[in-house]
Amino acid sequence: MTPLVDLHRHLEGSIRPATALEFADRLGAATRREALVAAGHEGGLLPYLAKIETASALARTLDDWHRITAEAIADAHDDGLAAVELRFAPEFIAGVAGVDADDVIDAVSDAAATAGLPVDVDLIGIIVRDQGPDSALVQARRLLRHADVLAGADLAGDEAGYPVTLFAPAFRMVRDAGIPVTIHAGEAAGPRSVWDALSLGPKRIGHGVRGAEDPRLLEHLAASGVTLEVAVTSNVQTGAARSRESHQLAALVKAGVRVALCTDNPSVSDTRLSREYEVAASLVDEASLDLIRRHAAEARFGAAR
Ligand SMILES: [Zn+2]
Repeated sequence: MTPLVDLHRHLEGSIRPATALEFADRLGAATRREALVAAGHEGGLLPYLAKIETASALARTLDDWHRITAEAIADAHDDGLAAVELRFAPEFIAGVAGVDADDVIDAVSDAAATAGLPVDVDLIGIIVRDQGPDSALVQARRLLRHADVLAGADLAGDEAGYPVTLFAPAFRMVRDAGIPVTIHAGEAAGPRSVWDALSLGPKRIGHGVRGAEDPRLLEHLAASGVTLEVAVTSNVQTGAARSRESHQLAALVKAGVRVALCTDNPSVSDTRLSREYEVAASLVDEASLDLIRRHAAEARFGAAR
């Protein structure tokens, strides 16, 4: 069977709750697990992202982020993964930790390089939407300076508030440098956001599940060969899917769209990739799950570079 690969896992959403609580103790901050881990429904993407921010804001040093990276890799290995693509936003981490964004990339990439576990680790640099298109250019230039340790680039953050079209210049720069791209779309916004994301030439789309609302888009996605990084538990928590039972996975698979099952934020969503496959087993048949595993392995940025 094709080995398990997670293509969409945020480092900032992979902070072990126990580690976050230890950091909170150190700060003398009263933090409870419920502030860090999502409930069944969070009522939107932004309340879900707030939990990531709460945990991230407790990690204040480069050593903390080194440790968080090492633990995230150990957790991926414990779950039996052959490969994980960890994505992180240097600008966001620098902002909450009060450190330099270039140093963040160095700390995370050093932790990945020295993990010493039999799991392939590749890093994806995130450009954060929430600071607007001018900041996106600065962030893109930073990622290019560290292209030797990055397998790809992503656009993430407040999808509904900052449409993807604002970021075309930043992503043109990244793609011109030969760095493969994935874009968060079709999660907090509808099919239009997926159409717009496709105009930036990504190899993959983060989630994209709301693309299932547009049959013409499904046809287009199937023909394009673009892979959707789908995280069922997270999609229910953020409201991208109304419920687990009515999740768009079956519709995407039926339409012939390439799908990779992912965790998104294992700690915030309280899940792991093997569990996401168990959840998906109630939505699609065994042959589809095999295909999903294969499509995930084939869509790795790390393997392509
Ligand atoms: Zn994501």
